[in-house]
Formats: sequence, C-alpha cells, structure tokens
Amino acid sequence: MKTNLQLFAVPFRRTSKTAKRQRRTHLKKEAPTVITCPKCGSVLEPHRACTKCGYYKGKEVIKPEKTKEETK
Ligand SMILES: [Zn+2]
Repeated sequence: MKTNLQLFAVPFRRTSKTAKRQRRTHLKKEAPTVITCPKCGSVLEPHRACTKCGYYKGKEVIKPEKTKEETK
C-alpha cells in the first residue's frame, strides 16, 4: 500500500520547565552603551559621528540633521 505519509524529526520528550528556563537565562535585553559628545554633550553610541553637531574625533565628518525647529 502506497501512502503519502511524511515523517519528521520529533523531540523524544517534552522540554522541562527547568530546562526551558535555564536556556532562556541568556535571552535578555541589554541597555546600549552610550557616551556623551565631547563637543555638544548629546548622548550617542560610541564610535559614531554625533547626529547633533556632526563631529567625530574633533572634525566635522557629516552635516548635522536639521530638526523641525531649526528648519522653520
Ligand atoms: Zn555633538
């Protein structure tokens, strides 16, 4: 008799509450590392040009983004 049954890998037993919780101890959200811009003092991620003043390592590397108040 021909069947179209497909067999898949099935876990041998259910993962216990403890095993599931132990695995998930590594899954957590961490607060990002932030620095303050030495030029304007705004908060930004390290190794990135400041979005407020456009400076990185004492030089202007990008044009700062204009906010809504500045463009008016
Ligand atoms: Zn800045």
